[in-house]
Amino acid sequence: MSVIFGPVPSRRFGLSLGIDLSPESKACNFDCLYCELEPAKPTDRIPHPPLVQEVITKVQEALRKFPQTQVITITANGEPTLYPYLDELIDALNKIKQDKKLLILSNASRIHEPQIQTSLAKLDIVKLSLDCATPRCFKRLDRPLKSISLDKIIKGMERFSRLYGGLLVVEILVVKGINDTKEEFAKLGEILRHIRPDRIDVGTIDRPPAYKVEPVSYERLFELSSELGPLPISIVSRNFGQKYFTNLSEREILDLLAHRPLSQEDIACLFDEQSQAIIHQLEQEKKLKKIKVGGVDFIESDL
Ligand code: SF4
Repeated sequence: MSVIFGPVPSRRFGLSLGIDLSPESKACNFDCLYCELEPAKPTDRIPHPPLVQEVITKVQEALRKFPQTQVITITANGEPTLYPYLDELIDALNKIKQDKKLLILSNASRIHEPQIQTSLAKLDIVKLSLDCATPRCFKRLDRPLKSISLDKIIKGMERFSRLYGGLLVVEILVVKGINDTKEEFAKLGEILRHIRPDRIDVGTIDRPPAYKVEPVSYERLFELSSELGPLPISIVSRNFGQKYFTNLSEREILDLLAHRPLSQEDIACLFDEQSQAIIHQLEQEKKLKKIKVGGVDFIESDL
């Protein structure tokens, strides 16, 4: 398999060129039930990792071929922070990235390590996963190596958030019957209010998972997100169900969006056509305004 893939359009980050630091086989210290890769025993080693120079040459070739690339995404067939030359690679990418942004997608398992914090702090965007607030849920859903502690991950995320100047996104992936309870989400809300990420993406399974687990509905994602409290939350799902809000009045829309700003995508998924037409009208009349939070457009009311 190739070290480079794409560029592919990403709804959240733009046209993205991917770097796969574990092109040979899956190498991850988790074995999440919902993983889109094949099931595999967790490991803390990438077998035969590519050399930094090899990656850089391939990225330079790709950038020449696809100059419209907007973001370079460091990922892996597994967990990219297991790559042994990560710091050196990030320094080299920063030298050749031109106007592109550098992004990493990580499961946060090593975010408590000072060296990993220093390396990731040199990136433009860091996206970390946090699916559970309790160790029991974490072990059931993400199935990490025994040595990995949720408590250390949470403390590491808090510290990293304080020192990091880029865009920090936390992703929660919801699986039916495992982390889809209001209690788990209320606890996640408490934790996330300490971490203070720029944005929280809440999603569910939308590709075939490694194990037999099921997604939750869009409506359930919305209900659970409300448990997180006043945080910048964006629901990410292709699993659209029925429209959640129908026949809302102007007043109901203004109240709702004053209490809870929603992203434009969420509005398109949650509101029926009639309510969306009112929202559009309210925007024209400047009773609603668009604000950018964590790179995503949200609509809010000043009521
Ligand atoms: S952390 Fe990512 S790559 Fe690793 S098992 Fe979970 S979903 Fe798969």
